[in-house]
Amino acid sequence: MICFKPVKLLALAIIGTASLSACASIEQMQAQTNSTPTSTPLIQANDSHIYSSSGATQIPDIGTAPKWVIAVHGGAGVKSRSKMTPELEAKYRAGLKVATEAGGKVLAQGGTGPEAIEAALNILEDNPIFNAGRGAALDEHGNARHDASIMRGRDRGAGAVAGSSRIKNPISAARAVMENTQNVLLNGAGADWFAREQGLAMADPLYFQTDARRKSLLKKRAKSRGEIAFNEAGETAFGTVGAVVLDSAGNISAGTSTGGRANKRFGRLGDSPIIGAGTYASNQSCAVSATGHGEYFMRWTVARDICARMEFGGETLEQAANAVLVDTLKPLGGSGAVISIDPQGKVVFSMNNKGMYRGVMSSQTKARTGIYFEEVK
Ligand code: ASP
Repeated sequence: MICFKPVKLLALAIIGTASLSACASIEQMQAQTNSTPTSTPLIQANDSHIYSSSGATQIPDIGTAPKWVIAVHGGAGVKSRSKMTPELEAKYRAGLKVATEAGGKVLAQGGTGPEAIEAALNILEDNPIFNAGRGAALDEHGNARHDASIMRGRDRGAGAVAGSSRIKNPISAARAVMENTQNVLLNGAGADWFAREQGLAMADPLYFQTDARRKSLLKKRAKSRGEIAFNEAGETAFGTVGAVVLDSAGNISAGTSTGGRANKRFGRLGDSPIIGAGTYASNQSCAVSATGHGEYFMRWTVARDICARMEFGGETLEQAANAVLVDTLKPLGGSGAVISIDPQGKVVFSMNNKGMYRGVMSSQTKARTGIYFEEVK
């Protein structure tokens, strides 16, 4: 059902502040991208939608009082329909479905939110069509430099890595920072050093580079140093990956992993490794993973702001997500989207552009995937 509802602007300004081998993962990735895609649409009869002139919100059906829930994203700024082939769409849906189910399996076995997030995001990081891990966007020097973060809502434990260039699965390193150090954010060579010390899988920098990303960079790099790459249609593809989870212990968590933006300035970091900007989780309010134009997400502390609106302003998750994404960021040109979850497991997808690659599953509903925001069937 489609309903039109003006989204309220509140005058509230709250500024909150495994060891895998590279070869195994390539085979795993090929199996995923070759697998038969699901045709199951994301939309169910009891999903609800809010559309405004500049955005859309989807609240997928996750059943009644589910024990566990997982939602994943593979980035906002999806390819325009004219550029999307059935084969490519099938690859995106298959990749999202496999990742969502991997996280769901961990949760069904009683695993924690961070364990499920790591399982789901490792699969998307290994899949070269997403902008994280292998296939990450390349910087102005032609290198992949990865940002990732994870946060658990139970105690606001958090971990992140930024600008790493040798960690095969950056979300695993972020989780290791959270669980095995007293720090929150490690960067560059220090992050790489730490991951190696932790026994995590490492990769040669060439492992991350794909022909598609190299071609895209060469086209854009001619224009200007450090200028963000846009495609022929003037669109910028994001493709970051993320997940939010309610686990069977009743805790919510969020995680995000990305290569950042194509042709990004050497040394540029986005919102994805920044707790409060690209990732946030608190059992008192919500858990959020963002994708989009990172500079806006950092300046408007998007993930924390959504949760703070719930915590201090009494807003629902969809009101808070829409207030930040649609009412605030969209008019400023801050293109992007978020996946979010509240402590009851209610999932809200909020988008202010064409859509977001996404998947959702719960203890009561099977994995479904979506791409465009208007995919109402
Ligand atoms: N938010 C990411 C960044 O700005 C990009 C993305 O979401 O794809 O680094």
